[in-house]
Amino acid sequence: MATAYVYEFTEGSREQAGLLGGKGANLAEMTRLGLPVPPGFTVTTDACRVFLRTGSTPEGLDREIAGHLTRLEQVTGRRLGQADNPLLVSVRSGARFSMPGMMDTILDVGLNDASVIGLAESTGREHFAWDSYRRLVQMYGATVLGIDGARFEEVLTRRRRERGVTDDVSLEARELAEIVREFKSIIRADTGEEFPQDPREQLDRAVSAVFHSWNGERARVYRGREHIPDDLGTAVNVQAMVFGNLGPDSGTGVAFTRDPGTGRAGVYGDYLADAQGEDVVSGVRDALPLQELERLDPDSYARLGEYLRTLETHYRDLCDVEFTIERGRLWVLQTRVGKRTAEAAFRIACALVDEGVITWPEALARVDGEQLDQLTFPRFDAHADTMLLARGIPAAPGAAVGAVVFDVAEAVRRAGAGERVVLVRHETSPDDLPGMIAAEAVVTGRGGKTSHAAVVARGMGKVCVCGAAELDIDTRGRRLTAADGTIVEEGAVVSVDGTAGTVHLGSLPLVASPVTRYLETGTRSPGVVEAVARCLEQADEIRRMDVLANADTPEDAARARRYGAGGIGLCRTEHMFLGTRRHFVEDMILARTDAERRRALDALLPLQREDFTGILSAMDGLPVTIRLIDPPLHEFLPDDTESAIRLAVARATGREPDRREVRVHEALEVLREENPMLGLRGVRLALTVPGLIATQVRAIGEAVVARIRAGGDPRAEIMIPLVATVKELSLVRAEVERVLADVEADTGVPVRCPVGTMIELPRAALTAGAIAPVADFFSFGTNDLTQTTWGLSRDDAEASFLAAYLDRGIIEVSPFERIDRAGVGRLIRIAIDEGRRGKPGLRIGVCGEHAGDPDSIRFFHDAGVDYLSCSPYRLPSARLEAGRAAASTTTDADTR
Ligand code: ADP
Ligand code: MG
Ligand code: MG
Repeated sequence: MATAYVYEFTEGSREQAGLLGGKGANLAEMTRLGLPVPPGFTVTTDACRVFLRTGSTPEGLDREIAGHLTRLEQVTGRRLGQADNPLLVSVRSGARFSMPGMMDTILDVGLNDASVIGLAESTGREHFAWDSYRRLVQMYGATVLGIDGARFEEVLTRRRRERGVTDDVSLEARELAEIVREFKSIIRADTGEEFPQDPREQLDRAVSAVFHSWNGERARVYRGREHIPDDLGTAVNVQAMVFGNLGPDSGTGVAFTRDPGTGRAGVYGDYLADAQGEDVVSGVRDALPLQELERLDPDSYARLGEYLRTLETHYRDLCDVEFTIERGRLWVLQTRVGKRTAEAAFRIACALVDEGVITWPEALARVDGEQLDQLTFPRFDAHADTMLLARGIPAAPGAAVGAVVFDVAEAVRRAGAGERVVLVRHETSPDDLPGMIAAEAVVTGRGGKTSHAAVVARGMGKVCVCGAAELDIDTRGRRLTAADGTIVEEGAVVSVDGTAGTVHLGSLPLVASPVTRYLETGTRSPGVVEAVARCLEQADEIRRMDVLANADTPEDAARARRYGAGGIGLCRTEHMFLGTRRHFVEDMILARTDAERRRALDALLPLQREDFTGILSAMDGLPVTIRLIDPPLHEFLPDDTESAIRLAVARATGREPDRREVRVHEALEVLREENPMLGLRGVRLALTVPGLIATQVRAIGEAVVARIRAGGDPRAEIMIPLVATVKELSLVRAEVERVLADVEADTGVPVRCPVGTMIELPRAALTAGAIAPVADFFSFGTNDLTQTTWGLSRDDAEASFLAAYLDRGIIEVSPFERIDRAGVGRLIRIAIDEGRRGKPGLRIGVCGEHAGDPDSIRFFHDAGVDYLSCSPYRLPSARLEAGRAAASTTTDADTR
C-alpha cells in the first residue's frame, strides 16, 4: 500500500508528533480521550517535506484529501461550498515542536459569494457570516497570495473611521460586505486573479501556503533561536470550524491546567466573548480572566474544568488549551504541554512528584540548567525609591533594565551595538520576533497573560509586562506617556519588573535572587527555592559524573565549594605571572644567563607557593588540578605598540631610549608568532624554557608540604597542557617527579601528586592509547580541541565568519557553545576508548567551557566521562544537568 499522507484525528496519537506535528498529534490524542474536538484530519509532515523538496504536493495527496473531506462532510452533515448551511474548515499549521504563531493558519475556508448567504441564513446572523467571509478573504490574500497585510488593515481602519467606530463588531453586515468587495478588488489588482470561489481550490492552496510558511522569515528566525532543525517541515490540520463569534453566548479562550508563572494549581487563563480564536492571542481586544466564565456560562466552565483535569492527569504535566464556546457548546481546539517560566518548571516538577503523578527521574527531565540559570539572575531591590510609570500584567518574571525602543529595527540596531533595550509595543505579532530576541524585556499596552507577547517571552525567558493600559504608546512619535503625563522618549532607560508587573523610569538597583541567596548560604524558603533545592539534591544523588570547578584564586575556590563543587578540575596558573609579578616574568624572559633566569624565577617561587597554599586550603580534602603555564610568553610582556611608539619618538628626537624598553621590544620581536594559538605554548614552553616548570612544580610541592604541616589534607594534581605526543608527557613527567622528590628530600614530608594531561589536540586524542600509560588522568580541553579540530581560532571566527555560517545554516550552533558531536565528539570518544584500553580505569574529565553546556553534558555522560569542570557560576546547572543525564537513562521521558 502506498504511504498515507493523511490521517483522521481518530487515527493518530500523541506519540506521532514527528509525523502529525504536535498540534495534530494532540488533537488526535484528545479525540481518543473523548474530549469534544471538532472533527478533521491531518496532512503529514512527510507531505510537507516532499513539498519543500519538489515545490509541489506529493502525487496522490489530492485524492486522499478528497476522501477525507467526504468523510468529514458525512460526519458533520454539511458540504464544503454547499450554498445553504455550508461546512467551513480551518487549515492549521502544526510542526513537531510548538512554534506559537510562527506559521500560518487560515480560518473559515469554504466560504464564497453563495455560501456566505447560506451561512447567514442557517445561523440567522448576517453580520457573523460577512465577518467570517471578510476574515477568510483577508487571511487568504495575505497568506496564500502574499499580499501585504497592511493593505487590508488600511481599508478596515478607513471604514471604521468613516463610521466613527472603534471595532469591527460595530460595523454593519452591509458594510462588511462592501469591505469584502474591496478586499477582492485588492486581490484582483495585485495578482490579476479572482478570489477563488471553488472551496476545494481555497483548501488546496491554503494547504500549500501552510507548507510554504515553514520557510517564512519569522519561522526561520524562531527555529534558529530555539535550535529546531530546519528540515522537519510542518503538518497541516484541516478541521471543521466552530464559531465563538456567534453572539454573547459564544466566545473563545485559552486555559492552563495550573499557573504557568508559579506552578500553583488553580483556574488560569483568558476568555473573550463573541470572538474568534486569534482575537485572544493577538491582543486586539482585552480578554477577561477565565474566572469570569463561571458567571457567564457556568455549565461550560464546569466542563472546561473537568477537561483540564483529564488532560493534566493524562499528560502528567501542565497543559494549555485553546477552547471555543459556540452558543453554549464547548469545544476544545488545541492542547499541548504548556510553556512555563523557570520558576514554574521547578515548582510544577516537585508538585507533581508530591502528588504522586511522576517520579524523581521524570521530574528532573522537566527542568533544565538554563532555567536554573535564569533563577539566579538578580531582582530589583524592593526597597529602592522608584518612579513608577505603569502597572501591567506580570507575564514573564525577572528584572530588566534597558533603553526604550518602539520597533524591531531599532531594537535590533541598538542591541547589535551592545545596548540593552526594552521593546515597547501596543501588542506583538510574530513579526516582532527579532526585536523580542534582541530585547531584554517586552512591554505591551494591550493583551493578557496568554497574548503572543506573554507566551513567546515566557518561552524565551525574557522579562515581560503586558496589558500596561495606562501607557499611551506612540510608536510613530517614538515616545510613550505615563498616566501622570511623564513623557519617555526613545532611548530613555526604564526598568521592567516582570515579577511585579511594573515599569519604572530609570535604572533600579538590583539584589541577588532568592535562589542565588540559597546557593550562597544554603538558606531554604518555601516556594521556588525549596523546589530548586530538592531538584539539586536529587540530581546530586543520581548523577554519575563528578562536578568540579574551574577556579584560579582562593575566592573562586571558596565560591565553588559553596556552589557544590567536588574540587577544582582546572586551576590556571597564568594569573600568577601577572600584575605586580609581571616584572619578574620580564626578567626571566630577558635573562641572558642561567643565573639571571634563576634569580627571576626564585623571586616568583614564594609568591606562587602562597597562591597554591590558599587554594589548597580553600579546597581542603578535595582534588585541585593545577594546570602548568599554558599561554605563549609574549602575553606576559607589556603591549608592544606603545613601547614601539616611545622608542621611535626617542630615536627621532635624538634621546637615549630606555634600555630595558629596548630589550623588551627585542624580546617581543623574537617571541612574535604568526599563530600564537598554534605556537610556543603549553608543554612546549615547559620543554624549551629552562627552569620554568621546575619553579611551578616546586611551588606546588612546597604548598602541599605547608598544608600537611598545618594539619590539612591537600590533594594537588598536576596537569600538562597541549600535549601532542607521549614523548612530551614522559619528559615533563620525569621532571615533575624529580622536583617533587627534591621537595620531599628537602622537607622530609612525602609529596604525592598525580600527573595527568590535557587532551586538546587531535593528535593527542588519536594517540590516547599510547599517552594513557604515562598519565594519571585525562582532561579534555574542549575549547582548544574544537579550535584545532576545526582549524579555526575562536576569537577570530566569532568576530568574523561564524555569524554568517550560522545564518546560512552551515552550522546550527557554534561548536564553541555546544560540543560538535560528529567531529570533536568523535575524537573524544576515540580518546576515551583508547585511553582506557591503554590504562584501565583511567580517570577522565572535561574542563573546557562545554562542561557547563546542558547538551554537551548529556554527550559527556553518554561518552563515559568521569567528571566535569566548569566555572563556579555554572556549577549548579552542571550538577542539575549531570543528574538529568543520569536520570534519562532510567526514564525515556523527554522534554522540549
Ligand atoms: P497557532 O498555532 O498560531 O495557535 P492555530 O492553528 O491554533 O494557530 O489557530 C489560530 C487560532 O484559530 C486559534 O485561536 C485557534 O483556536 C483558532 N482555530 C483554529 N481552528 C479552528 C476551528 N476549527 N474552529 C474555531 N477556531 C479555530
Ligand atoms: Mg493555537
Ligand atoms: Mg587549552
